[in-house]
Amino acid sequence: MSESLEDIAREILGCTKCRLHAYRTHAVPGEGDPHANVMFVGEAPGRNEDLEGRPFVGAAGRLLTELIESIGLRRGTVFITNVVKCRPPNNRDPREDEIRACSPYLDRQIKVIRPRVLVTLGRHSTRYILGKAGLKVKSIMAVRGKVYELRVLGLKVKVVPTLHPAAALYNPALRKILQEDFKLIKRSLKSEASQETLDAFF
Ligand code: URA
Ligand code: SF4
Repeated sequence: MSESLEDIAREILGCTKCRLHAYRTHAVPGEGDPHANVMFVGEAPGRNEDLEGRPFVGAAGRLLTELIESIGLRRGTVFITNVVKCRPPNNRDPREDEIRACSPYLDRQIKVIRPRVLVTLGRHSTRYILGKAGLKVKSIMAVRGKVYELRVLGLKVKVVPTLHPAAALYNPALRKILQEDFKLIKRSLKSEASQETLDAFF
């Protein structure tokens, strides 16, 4: 039998595979619909997430929720997680070895959920996911604004790289970019739906 998201979450909650376990209050496996069509991948838990054990519950999370709702989705119908599941001290960037230690959990979550659209929020998750398809990411600005139809972990998936919501919190211009990229998510889901209708017809 294949594993469940609960199995993966249980492992994460007890994980000591990298130094970040020593600093955490709670590991943050992620949350949402196990059959979600859209999966969001952030960087790592921040202070609020570490305290609550849930992803994107602080100010950046409020913006993410708002963006999700702006395209007619709800938090409960998507899946939200991070590349790294424990909070780096003082919210520093996750290190290469920490991403290497933790990312197998993300891979396993993707394989269970099998999303049609994978949204990478910020540089770290974008690098990680596009890197799996052999794409090099110089900067998030160079790759955002496009939909990448890729094979990731053996799944056909549309990857939509965009900014991290935290970067847009106090910057209206960046917020506008995020809003535009979220329209791409909506469009990707629509074109998927019409494709399915065609498949059913022929
Ligand atoms: N920033 C992230 O990348 N992830 C969270 O869960 C919260 C803030
Ligand atoms: Fe384990 Fe990931 Fe937490 Fe490191 S960050 S201890 S690899 S769950």
